[in-house]
Amino acid sequence: MKFISTRGGGAPLAFASALQQGLAPDGGLYVPTDWPQFSPTDFANAQTLPEVAERLLAPFVANDILAPQLRAIVTEAFDFPAPVRALSPPIAGDLRVLELFHGPTAAFKDFGARFLAACFSRLQGSDDRLLNILVATSGDTGGAVAAAFHRRPGLAVTVLFPKGLVSPTQERQLTCWGDNVRSFAVHGSFDDCQRLVKAAFLDPELNAGQALSSANSINLGRLLPQAVYYAAMSLAHWREHGRAPNFIIPSGNLGNAVACVWARHMGLPVGEIILAHNANRTVPDYLVSGDWMPRPSIPTLASAMDVGHPSNMERLQSLFPGAAQIRARLEAVSVDDTQITQRIRQDFASMGEVWCPHTATAAEVWAALPESRRIAGDWILVATASPAKFPEIVEPLIGRPVEVPPSLARLLNRPTQVEGLTPELAALRVRLLSPTS
Ligand SMILES: *Cc1c(COP(=O)(O)O)cnc(C)c1O
Repeated sequence: MKFISTRGGGAPLAFASALQQGLAPDGGLYVPTDWPQFSPTDFANAQTLPEVAERLLAPFVANDILAPQLRAIVTEAFDFPAPVRALSPPIAGDLRVLELFHGPTAAFKDFGARFLAACFSRLQGSDDRLLNILVATSGDTGGAVAAAFHRRPGLAVTVLFPKGLVSPTQERQLTCWGDNVRSFAVHGSFDDCQRLVKAAFLDPELNAGQALSSANSINLGRLLPQAVYYAAMSLAHWREHGRAPNFIIPSGNLGNAVACVWARHMGLPVGEIILAHNANRTVPDYLVSGDWMPRPSIPTLASAMDVGHPSNMERLQSLFPGAAQIRARLEAVSVDDTQITQRIRQDFASMGEVWCPHTATAAEVWAALPESRRIAGDWILVATASPAKFPEIVEPLIGRPVEVPPSLARLLNRPTQVEGLTPELAALRVRLLSPTS
C-alpha cells in the first residue's frame, strides 16, 4: 500500500516514509491510495484491541519495512483498554459511553502517540543521529507525545507551551517527564510556539547535529491507529446486538472523527456519525452552507477542540468531494459553553456521570436529539478525556472533587522541570544545542 498527498503532489510513499514525512511536501496530508474492504467475519478470531489492530492495519503496512514488526508495534501501543459502559439516562433512549481515556495521560491522544512512538523507535537505527520530536501544544497533545516517547533510546521530545495559558493540571502533565523530554514555557501565545517549531525545522544549525521531526496530529501514524478502537467497538456491538452502533464524537481538528469515518469506509459496522463541536462552528456551518470558511479559533471550556481551521477536513474532502457528499455521511452540531456547563451539572445530578468538558459536548448532542432518533439507534458517546484532567472546570460544577485514576495521580505527583523561553528562534537554538541545565 502507498500513501499520497491530499493535494496530489509528490511521489506516493510507503507507510514508514509517510510517518517520517508527517506533512506532504506540497502541504497536503497523507491518505491511502486505496481502501481495503473488510466484513465482520474477517475479524472472526480478533477480540482484543491488538488483535483487531493487527488485522485492520496489515494491508496498510504490507510490503513496508515495518510490516514484520506490526504485531509487536500494536501489542506495545494498545496496552490499555477502551471499555464501553451502558448508561441509564433519565430520558428515553439507548446510550453507551466508549472511554478512550485509560492511557498514560488520560486522553484518547495516547493511542495515536503510543502507536507513532512504537513505529519511530523501530525506524531509529542504533547509529542514527538523535531524533528530536518538536511539539507545540496548547493542551493534551504535548503530554501524550511526551509520555509515549519518554526514555526511548535515540529519541527525544521538546515540548513548547504558552506560559500561563494552559491549566495548572495540564502544565504538570507537560513538565513532569525529565530524561529525554525537555519542556519550555514560552513567553508568548500558542501561535508563537508553533512559529518557533516551524522555524526550528528550517534552521541549518539545529538540523546539523540532530534530526528534527514532529508528532503533529495530522501525522498518518497518529490518525490510522484511531480507527482501531472504532473497529473493535463496532465489531463487539455487532456480535452482541446484531446492529451497527452510532457514534457521537467530540471534535476539533477532526482526527478522531476521520478515523471513525475511515473505519466505516472499510466496511466495519459503524452506523451514523455525529460530530460534536464546541463554539468553534467551522464544520457545522460548512455542512449547512456548503462554503468552507476557516476562521480564527475562539477559546472555550473544551479547549482541546478550539480549532477554527480543522486540518483533517482535507482528508474528508479527498474521500468525499463536496459538502453535499459529506453531509450525506455525517452530521455536525455546535455546543456552546453554557450548554457544556449545564450538561456536566445535569448528567451528574441525574446519572452520577462526570464528564470532561469535551465529552460533555457529545452528551449534550445526544440529549438534544429527537426522542424518535434516540430510541431508534444504538448510540455511543465517545469520551475523549478523563474529567480528572480538568478539575478546575469540573469540580465547581459538580460540587465535589473528581476521582483521579491511579495512573494519572502518579503522573501528577512527579516532580516537574520546566525552562522559560523567550519566543525567538535564537533563544531556542541556544537551549537545544546545549545540554539540559
Ligand atoms: C484533541 C482532543 C479532542 C479533539 O480531537 P480531534 O481529533 O482534534 O478532533 C477532543 N477531546 C479531547 C479531550 C482532546 O484532547
